Amino acid sequence: MTIPPVKQFDLLCENCGYVLSGLDRDGACPECGRPIAQSLPSARTLVFGASSSVSWLSLTRELMIRPDRALPRLRIDVKAARAFGLRTNVTVAFMTALGTVTIWRVRGDERPDGVLAFISTIFAALPLMFGIALITFVGLLVMRLIALKFVRELLPLRPRKLPEAVSRVVVDHCTLAWFPGTLLLASWNTLWGAVAYARTDGLVPCFWSIGCVAIGALSLVFWAVCVVLMARRFRFANAPGAY
Ligand SMILES: [Zn+2]
Repeated sequence: MTIPPVKQFDLLCENCGYVLSGLDRDGACPECGRPIAQSLPSARTLVFGASSSVSWLSLTRELMIRPDRALPRLRIDVKAARAFGLRTNVTVAFMTALGTVTIWRVRGDERPDGVLAFISTIFAALPLMFGIALITFVGLLVMRLIALKFVRELLPLRPRKLPEAVSRVVVDHCTLAWFPGTLLLASWNTLWGAVAYARTDGLVPCFWSIGCVAIGALSLVFWAVCVVLMARRFRFANAPGAY
C-alpha cells in the first residue's frame, strides 16, 4: 500500500489512512473501499459537554465498557476533551485520597472507639485527604504533559505525526486508565486497614508501602499502554476542518 504525503488538513480514510481530499464525498476510499462519509469529522458524534452531548458518567461508561464502539465515534474536540480529562483527574485524585482514610483510622495510637469517635477520626483525616488529593492531581497533570509530548513528538505513527488536536483528545480521554489502579489502591488500603485493626501485634509498614508502590507502577504501565494503543487507533482520525 502506498500512502501519499499528508498535509495538515487532509481528510484521511480513517480505516487505512489514504488521502481522500478532493474526492466525491458520496464515494468510497480507493484503497480499502470504506465509504468516505464514514471518515468525515461529522461522523464522530460522541462528545462530552453541553446540553446536546453526553454527560461525564455516560461517556465514561461508553469508553470503559464498549471502547470498540465508542472510540470510532469520539469527536476530535479539544475543549470537550480537556474538560473531560480535568473532571476525570479530579475524581481519580479524590478516590485515591479517600482510599487512605482506612489507613489513617487504624494508626495504633488513634484507634476510634464507637461511631462518634470514628466520625471524628474521619474529620481529622480531612487535611491529609485533601493533601493527598492535591498531590495526586498535580502528579496526573504532569503525567498528562509528558504523555502529550510523547504522543506528539516521539510515537512513531506512520505516515505522519498525530495532529495536535488528536493528541490532546487521546491523552485527555486516557485519564480514565487511572481508574483501575485507584480502585486497586483503595482496596489494598481497606484490606490492610482491616487486617491491621484486627491485630494488636503490629504489622510491618514497609509491606504496605511495597504494595502501594507496586500498584502505582502497575497503574503507570497500564495507563501508558492505553495511551499508546489509543494513539495508534487514532492515527488516521480526522479533526474538524479536515477536507
Ligand atoms: Zn481506506
